[in-house]
Amino acid sequence: MRPQGSPSPLARADAAGRPADDPRSHLLNNATAEEYRRLVSDGVARVARTVAGTTRPFTGTTPGELAPVVDAIDLDRPLGDASAALEELERVYLRDAVYFHHPRYLAHLNCPVVLPALLGEAVLSAVNSSLDTWDQSAGGTLMERRLVDWTAARIGLGRAADGVFTSGGTQSNVQALLLAREEAFRLLRKNSAAPPPVSAMLPKLRVLTSEAAHFSVLKGAKLLGLEPDAVVPVPCDASRRMRVDALAHEVRRCREEGLTVMAVSATAGTTDFGSIDPLPEIAALCEEAGVWFHVDAAYGCGLLASPTRRHLLDGIERADSVTVDYHKSFFQPVSSSAVVVRDGTTLRHATYHADYLNPARNVEERIPNQVDKSIQTTRRFDALKLWLTLRVMGADAVGELFDRVVDLAADAWRLLDADPRFTVVTEPTLSTLVFRYVPARAGNGGPAADETAVDLANLHAREAIAASGEAVVAATVVDGRHHLKFTLLNPETTLDDIRAVLDLLAAHAEDHLTRNARLTGTPAA
Ligand SMILES: *Cc1c(COP(=O)(O)O)cnc(C)c1O
Repeated sequence: MRPQGSPSPLARADAAGRPADDPRSHLLNNATAEEYRRLVSDGVARVARTVAGTTRPFTGTTPGELAPVVDAIDLDRPLGDASAALEELERVYLRDAVYFHHPRYLAHLNCPVVLPALLGEAVLSAVNSSLDTWDQSAGGTLMERRLVDWTAARIGLGRAADGVFTSGGTQSNVQALLLAREEAFRLLRKNSAAPPPVSAMLPKLRVLTSEAAHFSVLKGAKLLGLEPDAVVPVPCDASRRMRVDALAHEVRRCREEGLTVMAVSATAGTTDFGSIDPLPEIAALCEEAGVWFHVDAAYGCGLLASPTRRHLLDGIERADSVTVDYHKSFFQPVSSSAVVVRDGTTLRHATYHADYLNPARNVEERIPNQVDKSIQTTRRFDALKLWLTLRVMGADAVGELFDRVVDLAADAWRLLDADPRFTVVTEPTLSTLVFRYVPARAGNGGPAADETAVDLANLHAREAIAASGEAVVAATVVDGRHHLKFTLLNPETTLDDIRAVLDLLAAHAEDHLTRNARLTGTPAA
């Protein structure tokens, strides 16, 4: 089918003299390099205009409004022309996208991205190296290895450390658990006269992690064939850090019940609270019990670059495996993540050889094939983004950006703590704040609004502010009650932004309570 509104075949020709409707003119090659430059520049110009003109983080659009716009597009009728497609993209995507660079985007663990990384993104997708084997990437493989070594050195894992870039913290956690499971099997086999079959060992495996840990630990356990109750939630203290006494208790209990603790997964920066489990104590416990010690630093890894707060990760150097999400706290575009291990030989649990790709003889020939260490095969050169970030601005600058948001969170906590309209769950270590709108009591000892109504008011406040597009905040449930949440990752967000958003939230919540009270005839406050 001739594309809608396509120029006449002779209207435009590539450098090889081919007419524009020759499908080969859409390929990037010698003949189209100039067209590539023009095309991408147009696209970048449009995004730059949009970013420069963003006045709100979101338009507040709903799936009901946007779905018909997306559905109306006939994917079998190409526009044939990039500027028409970009024009269309404006309507279906750019106009209503959620913009993380806006200082009032305060919701999830999404960061504004640094420019050198965006440059890397443009380069890596055009060259399109695949980091599974040396023969598909060459220098890319060596650069990724250097960055893994750099990260391992920042963690302090020692000379035998190794690792690989992954698609995200979820994949990193899954791979770490895979290695831990295989090592647990190896030890169980080694320590018994008659090596038990996998079917006998698998149901006895347990993973201990705090009740505030990320759900990817649960997903990983499921993927690894563990029992539904294999992930044992360890209680937290009031600061939402794993309780070491409770962990010791669970380790003992598992041993007494003939179960095998295959890993303890500590969190350095919980998704909700930014709390960091007591790593040195957990490390000691794992060493004593001979248990794999994983640290999920998907969020807290930004501290590895912090000029002032690296000590908050003390103990991480004793981990067997570490998850780092550069796309959370290194200001990198999605995806950029890694799993790093103390003993690089454990990565062999992810190694399979294929004659057509990474034959076993490549190992003797010392040909570096990253696929030997990864659970992915074809894999993006995401490491290039971090590479250019370190080469252009340097790690200290990244760490200073992260320090700024941690400082901001501390200031915002003081603000919230002093504000009678809100209760705040815990003082932040990193850059999240979990709080709840609580209505003032009507006079001295007046009746308090019931907690369910307050739950609904908090839920409403979050939805209303998103619908207005003035700010985007997150929500979570703490001890059964609905709370609001800020995840501060934008160094451009100010305390005035926080103040303004809190006023908006309080107004929306109050409004909801008042209307509700009028409807039900119960006192709002
Ligand atoms: C975000 C997060 C993950 C998951 O990482 P993705 O990159 O989203 O897959 C895992 N653990 C923690 C603590 C996180 O905050």
